[in-house]
Amino acid sequence: MARDELRELTHHLRRYLEHQSSIGVTGLVRAPSAERQEWEAWRAGLEAKKLEALKAALHEPETTRHKTAPRAARPSAPAAPTNPGAAGREIPTSKSNSAPDVSGGNQLWKQIGSRPVHLFKDQPSKPTPAPPAPKPTQRPRVTEQAPKRNNDGFVEVQRTIHAPQKPPKANQAQTPALFGDSSEQAHDPKRWALPMKGFDATPELQQRLDTMTSSSKLEFLRDCLGDCTRCKLHTKRKNIVFGDGDPNADLVFVGEGPGFNEDKRGIPFVGKAGNLLDRMIVAMGIERQDVYIANVVKCRPPNNRDPEPDEIAKCAPFLYKQLETINPKVIITLGRFASQCLLDTKRPMRAMRGRWQEWRGIQVMPTYHPAYLLRNPAGKRDAWSDLQMVMKELGL
Ligand code: URA
Repeated sequence: MARDELRELTHHLRRYLEHQSSIGVTGLVRAPSAERQEWEAWRAGLEAKKLEALKAALHEPETTRHKTAPRAARPSAPAAPTNPGAAGREIPTSKSNSAPDVSGGNQLWKQIGSRPVHLFKDQPSKPTPAPPAPKPTQRPRVTEQAPKRNNDGFVEVQRTIHAPQKPPKANQAQTPALFGDSSEQAHDPKRWALPMKGFDATPELQQRLDTMTSSSKLEFLRDCLGDCTRCKLHTKRKNIVFGDGDPNADLVFVGEGPGFNEDKRGIPFVGKAGNLLDRMIVAMGIERQDVYIANVVKCRPPNNRDPEPDEIAKCAPFLYKQLETINPKVIITLGRFASQCLLDTKRPMRAMRGRWQEWRGIQVMPTYHPAYLLRNPAGKRDAWSDLQMVMKELGL
């Protein structure tokens, strides 16, 4: 095997694997990316025999990477309560509600240990590193001609990109039983907690869902959302902000709705508040990619106003299905709006935060919204206490 070819193969393979690993993906089968396309195009140019010989020469290094130990299977989320109003309720255990001792502001640092975290110190907000571009509902189809090697040794591939077809308009004809309930009932807040008509009701669909991973269920749910026009928020939005993170996460954060930056990028919590949320997550000893982040509404309310009841009625069921699919051990609701909405209550934040609540059998910890904490840094001490309760629960 020519030394140059071997060197080129390792270059391409390493570049691709490093990219995969930087975005938290293992193996060679996922992550449609320039790196992958480059690698695949190069590989396609080799004769199969040569590739085999190269593989043998390389002794195939171990490429799989386990970030965290595999999670023990949890029972799936119980069905919605027969009394929908009881969807969210406080868990009456004095033990689990006992907040950890967080005396002394500077002590908080000691509790974080040696981790390079500055949760309680305001930093000049540095931009969150750009995550990969939001996934379009349908990816562009790329056709390629056989790769050609140039004089300079680089492989050239002619690609034609066929623009993706727009996802179907969420007019109810396209998604008949799926979330398409436009009846008056859909506006009844108590009804939000009920199973969604169609999604898990028909035996055929249920059969399909039973065989799906959380990740494909979330993709299916995203497809059901489509290019949503169910409420008036669609008229001003740039991007739908569906959710971001690990579909098997033990911990899910729920915010209110996308802001300016989120709308622009299609990813939740990527502005200043997102920067603080990232630091809160790191302070807990985990990383953003280990959790899932979603909002009550998926489109930005104009001027960041609170979402209105009809908007919530149309959108929140998608959040409920996301939560049901991920079935985390703990949900952290960020701020008054998300907490009141998920727990179906009007109680003020001070009465909810720091106390375990429950949503369909999943533990919920309401805490302050990072945007509030940016305006009121004194609240960080309480927020940290709330996060510590969650860390204890998750064994972090
Ligand atoms: N605030 C939220 O509640 N959600 C976001 O995604 C961003 C800011």
